[in-house]
Parts: sequence; structure tokens; C-alpha cells
Amino acid sequence: MPASNAMSDKITHFEIHDIRFPTSLTGDGTDAMHTDCDYSSAYISLYATGGLVGHGMTFTLGRGNEIVCQAIAEVAKRLIGREPESFFANMGAAWEFMCADPQLRWIGPEKGVIHIATAAVNNAVWDMFARARGKPLWKLVVDMTPEELVNATAFRYITDAITREEALEMLKAKEPGKKEREVRVREVGYPAYITSAGWLAYTDEKVAGLMKEAVAAGFNHFKMKVGADAKSDLRRGKLIRSIIDDPQYLPTSASTYTSSIDGTVKKGRDPNSAELKGKNAGPTGAVLMMDANQVWDVPQAIEYVKSLEEIKPWFIEEPTAPDDILGHAAIRRALKESGIGVATGEHAHNRMVFKQLLQADAIDVCQIDSCRLAGVSEVLSVLLMAAKFNVPVCPHAGGVGLCEHAIHLSLIDYIAVSGTMERNALEFADHLHEHFHYPCSINENGRYNVPSSSAEGYSTEMYKASIAEYEWPSGSYWVKVGEGK
Ligand SMILES: [Mg+2]
Repeated sequence: MPASNAMSDKITHFEIHDIRFPTSLTGDGTDAMHTDCDYSSAYISLYATGGLVGHGMTFTLGRGNEIVCQAIAEVAKRLIGREPESFFANMGAAWEFMCADPQLRWIGPEKGVIHIATAAVNNAVWDMFARARGKPLWKLVVDMTPEELVNATAFRYITDAITREEALEMLKAKEPGKKEREVRVREVGYPAYITSAGWLAYTDEKVAGLMKEAVAAGFNHFKMKVGADAKSDLRRGKLIRSIIDDPQYLPTSASTYTSSIDGTVKKGRDPNSAELKGKNAGPTGAVLMMDANQVWDVPQAIEYVKSLEEIKPWFIEEPTAPDDILGHAAIRRALKESGIGVATGEHAHNRMVFKQLLQADAIDVCQIDSCRLAGVSEVLSVLLMAAKFNVPVCPHAGGVGLCEHAIHLSLIDYIAVSGTMERNALEFADHLHEHFHYPCSINENGRYNVPSSSAEGYSTEMYKASIAEYEWPSGSYWVKVGEGK
């Protein structure tokens, strides 16, 4: 990709693809609310003169992806003829422009189909920006001065929680340690947790096998889906605990610690260490999380989660409707005595919802989504607010392409914004990475490797062959399936 700095380059055209993977056939991605998901990408490639290209996407579960693709076209049309460099000079202003079509905003504003479509377009412009500078996206952002980073952030409607001036002060305070943190995370990787061992439609045998594999691969944070049946959840939770808490399944390379309780040397990580304190870690330092995917009313959530107290989760994720800020706060208050936290965010449709979740003390963990918030500029605003409220950010990932994006966002959070990572854990699900030119990867300690190609931008680019196979309904896979009917 030729780098271009020419001020005269202009965005000329775009291509949109409705790409759907038949994950419903294997039960991947199944939870209490989403029982047959075809992981899908509403994908855009944006082209400019000078050889510039940017790829962006948002994520859906199958049917409806074509509606998002139509909305992406409407948002992208306004970019034709614009100069990429004028966007790059102030990505916050570019973001406001993309959200502010006087007719399109009526079908949001800043929520639903139009907002996730804006995410795809904003992500494509950021990908183009990073590629134009020959850096992975995270590196582009952490190399910005505090002033540039604040200018790239979406601040509208959140200045009652954080002002530009406060954000600038926070970023300046983190400036001196940036280099050191970058070196460290390149060396050790970014902490991850695994979800793909605990999908709801998997049999106990499959869950047990996958959990053993995950422990052996170095993971020590694990998530299970709950909410369809309490008895079954308790049984599966105990099964998972019996594996993740048992030192015999740990890899031979696992670390050891001296127990502060009986002074003996044990395999695993110290559950009473600063990184694991308050996470209900078991004797090997294993942490279990639960995800209900919005299935309960508020009182039901409290009762159901209390009935699972015995398996000691760190948090319950999405216990109720994603818009119900005060409901989440009530659940969090009620579960405090059980030592169980509340996490949410993958369906929080904009920065204002995150602002209120933080202001209402409703969450212990902030789960941003790279494709539901309208791209990187809005993500930056949530990272800054979460850092100010001292709530760790553990991005939602999985699906298709979300892990590829999320590692960039967690690196920005660690290196430039919050300055910490050891209590964080970025979601990982082991599906569909093979379709990307620059797939994410996990090291031998169960942590994300740092994306480091100068050509990868936001790591969004999919193989043309994958698009040709899975484009709906004309891709070779879908044509073949249709002929079989
Ligand atoms: Mg979830």
C-alpha cells in the first residue's frame, strides 16, 4: 500500500459486502437470547485517489445484515469527494460530520441501525488513516499528542462527566509512562479471557473438553453463558469450576506462588494477588464470569444470580435490558453482598449510555464494542470516562472481526489512557479469524499478541476469497446451500 500524504487526495468510491458465516450450524455464539446466529459482517471498503484504501465493518447475527449495508451506503455517500487528510487532521470533527446528516439522524439519533452503520464507516476512515501513516491503528493513536487524541475524541453530550480539559490533564499525566508500557505489552501480551468454551448449545462433554484445552493454552479467565435454566447452569458451572480450579490441567509452563494462607508453594496464580483480588478467583487463580445476554427482568436477575453464588463468578454480564441503567445499578447493589459484580456494554448503543452507567455506579466492568459504538472516536470518549471513574474496560469481542478490532482498543487504553492492564481481560473467541489478512493471535500464556504490521491498519481487511465464498446470497457457499434445498 503506497503511503500518501497528498492534501489533494479525494475519496472516490466505496464497495459494500453483506458477508454471512453459517455459524448456526455448529452452535457457536449461542446464548440465552441468540439461539441460531450466523455471524455476519456488514463490510465496506472505501477508496481514495493516491492508492488509499480503508476497510471497515460492523457486526450482526445474520438476517438484517442487508439493512445495515443499505444504511452504510447512505452514510458513506457523504464522504465521496472529501479529502481524507482533512478528516485525519481532526477525527473528532470528522466523526461529528458522519453522525450529523440532517435527514439520516432522524432514524437514530446515535442508536440502532444507523449508528452501527456509522461505526462501519468511521472504522473504515480510521483504517485508512492508520494505513496512510504505515502504522497499526493502536500505534497511530498512542503516538498522538494528548491534544491530538482529545481532538480525535467524540465529546458532544458527555462534558458533564468529563471535559476536554480534564481529558487532556489525564492524558498528559500518562504521557511519561507510554514508552515503557508499550515495551512491556509487546513483551508479555495483553490479558485475555475465553468465551468460546462455554456457549449455551454445547454439550457438557464439549464444554469440558474445550475448558481443558483453554486451561492448557494458558487462559485463566473463562466465561460461560447462563440464563436458560438455573439448574443446568449450576451443573455446568460446577463442571467448569472442577476443571479450571484443578492444578492438574495447568500447562507445565504455569507459574507458581507461595500461599499467604498456609505458606506452601502452589501451581497457578495467587488468588489474593492485587490483579485477582475481588474476582472470586479459585485456588489456581482461575476466574469465572457469567453472561446472561439480557434475558431477565431486574428482580429475576437478582434471584437467579444469587442461586448461582456457589460457583463464584466475578461478574454477571448483561443481566437485563441494555438500556436499563438504573436496573443495572439495582442489580449491582443487590449482588454486592454475594461478592458478584455487574458488567455490560456490548449493546450500550452510544457514549451517553456508558456515561450514565458510570454516573449511576451501575457497573464494575465496562464492555465497549468496536462496532456498536460509532467507531474509534466514540470508543475514545468511553475509554476516557471509564478511566476517570476508575472502572476497568474489558471490551466485548468474538463474533467476526471483533477480536481483531478490540486488541487495538485495549492497547490504546493501556498505553495512553488508563495506564493499567493487569486487572483487565479482553474477550477472545476462537472463531473465523482465518478470513482476515491480519488475524489476532494469542501467546502461550493466554494473552493477545500485539498487532505489529505497518500495513494492517485496524486489522479489518478480509480475504477476497472469503468474501466471494460467504457474500450473501450470491457467494459460492450460499449458492451451494440453496441448490441443496
Ligand atoms: Mg456478552
